[in-house]
This record gives sequence, structure tokens and C-alpha cells, in this order.
Amino acid sequence: MSILSHLHQLFNTDTCHTYIHTLRWKERPLQCPRCHSHDVDPWGKYHYRPGCKRYWCNGCKRTFNDLTNTLLHQSQRSLPHWILTTFLLCLACSSQRIAREVGVHIRTSYRWGWWLRNAALSYEMHRQLEGTVEADDLYHTAGNKGQAKGGGQKSLGRQPRGRRKKREPGRGHYDKDRPAIIAWVSRQGAVIIQATKDFTVTTVQKAADIAVHVGSKLYTDSASSYRALTGYEHESVNHTKKEYARGEVHENRAECLFSLLKPYLRVFRGVSKGNLAGYVGFFQFLRNFRQQNACEQAELILQAALDPTIASRAKKGEFVTCFDHFDLLQTAIN
Ligand SMILES: [Zn+2]
Repeated sequence: MSILSHLHQLFNTDTCHTYIHTLRWKERPLQCPRCHSHDVDPWGKYHYRPGCKRYWCNGCKRTFNDLTNTLLHQSQRSLPHWILTTFLLCLACSSQRIAREVGVHIRTSYRWGWWLRNAALSYEMHRQLEGTVEADDLYHTAGNKGQAKGGGQKSLGRQPRGRRKKREPGRGHYDKDRPAIIAWVSRQGAVIIQATKDFTVTTVQKAADIAVHVGSKLYTDSASSYRALTGYEHESVNHTKKEYARGEVHENRAECLFSLLKPYLRVFRGVSKGNLAGYVGFFQFLRNFRQQNACEQAELILQAALDPTIASRAKKGEFVTCFDHFDLLQTAIN
């Protein structure tokens, strides 16, 4: 079941290994990933991994290859599997879809998906917007998907939502399975999207401090949490009075971003609130690198995945954790 069609066989293992080799070392000379010695010699190949070259380090007297200490290290699957998965991830495929297209188990594609999303988020860690920034908020339904112990039915601990049932009116909250998503959109093009527990003044202030440079111009709607913000030149439009733009002042870009985020999240057929921050974070990466096509985005992610420091942090899910403003904001409030 590993290779599905003749199309998959066009992905030549040798070509993939040469590509990964160039992507990892570029112009740099070969270096041992363990002791960083440059005194290395070729050391044959692996009989069970066609195309993967092995090297001998004269410093620590051990062997290594192009994948040692990267995200792809010791993977049972071939490089074409990984490269295809990364590409499909950039096309916003769900792990179910990736499992089907690539021919791996869904648990594999789910795990890889999160590792690769973490690697992608390494590009987004220190992003901060300045200049003119628009902000808007959204409440997305996110429950406890996939958290039943041992699988199968489990009691929800609440009334089931029911199909087509109208959600409770008003602002959502993490505890009501409707966490908030705040989008900050710079008029220069960059975006930051944060998933937060609620939409209180403290939360929004903290979120703004992380996302937007102090002293920037901020255009929002008339929500009271925005009006209480300090440190920004703030102007707002009043949607209840049917005012959507007043000259320069509008937040249409932020609303447009949500119109793209909603169908992106829909692909997953419901997300868990624990994973929401990771999904919107990856969407932020895709938006910020939207000048590149999916192939180039996949290359960026693979490049990050081949960096040993990023790889070890990505496997632990540290980037999404840094990105997860649920916890961050909670500590800020306490
Ligand atoms: Zn070494």
C-alpha cells in the first residue's frame, strides 16, 4: 500500500535524496551533526534505504547520513512520502486526505502533519506588525475532537450541539467550546492570527502587545475590548450604525482574512480546541508566504525540518506551544 500508482513512481528516490542533500548542506561542506567535525569520509549506503548515502565521522567515530538529527531521521517511510506530504499540507489538505493520497496510515500523516506545521511555525515566531494594522475577531466552534480515551463514544460532559443547532448568541469562550480568534492584518501585507481563550480587555491588550509594535495605527470595529487598548493610535468604525468604512479607517482586510480562514478550517471537519492555535498558526504561515506557490512553501518547510535544532523542537511541538496563546494569556492574567 506504500506506492499507490505509477504517478508516485515518478518520484525517484535517488533524485529526492540528491534534492534533500542540497537543501540540507547547500554550499557548506559536509559536517558531522554530532561533533560538528568536518573530517568525514563516504561510508557506503544502506541496503534498506536505497539512495541514502552514509558518511563516517573521523572525529566521533560514528556514521551519519543526510537525515541524521532532522525531522526525517529514522523514518520508515521514503523521502517521496515526506516530500509529497509537505506539499499536500501546503495545499491545506487534512491528515485524512494526506493519508489517502500518500498511502500512509492516518496516525502517521497526523503526526507528520503536526511536526511539519511546527517546523513551518519556526518562521513565524518573531513576527510583529507595524505601520497601519487592522484587527478583527471571530469565534470558532472547537470542542474536544479526538480526545476520547481508547476511542469510540464518550460522554461529552455537555449537551450535544446537534445538527444545524444555532449556537449561543454573543461572544464565545474557551469553556463554552467557542474560543476567540483575533486577526491582525498589516496594510503592508503581513498577518498575525491568534487563538485566545476569550475576548476580555486584558486578553486583547496582551495579544496586541505580542502582535503589533507599540505606536502603530490600529483600525478596528467598535468592540469595547479594542477601545480600552493602550499604546496605539486607535480608530474604529461602528458596524451597528452600518458604518463599514470612514475614509482610510476600515477593517475590511481583516474580515477578508476570516473569509479565507473559515473554509481553510472547514477542511478538517471540526477541530479540537487544543489544536486550534496550531491550525491558525499554520494558516498564518501560508498567508505570510502567499507570494510563493505551494511547492516553494513546501521547500521552506523542508528546509526548516532539516535543521537539527528546529527539528528537535518541532518533534516536541514546542513551536505550537509558543504559539498557543491560550496558556500564554492565562499566565498573563493570573
Ligand atoms: Zn562526529
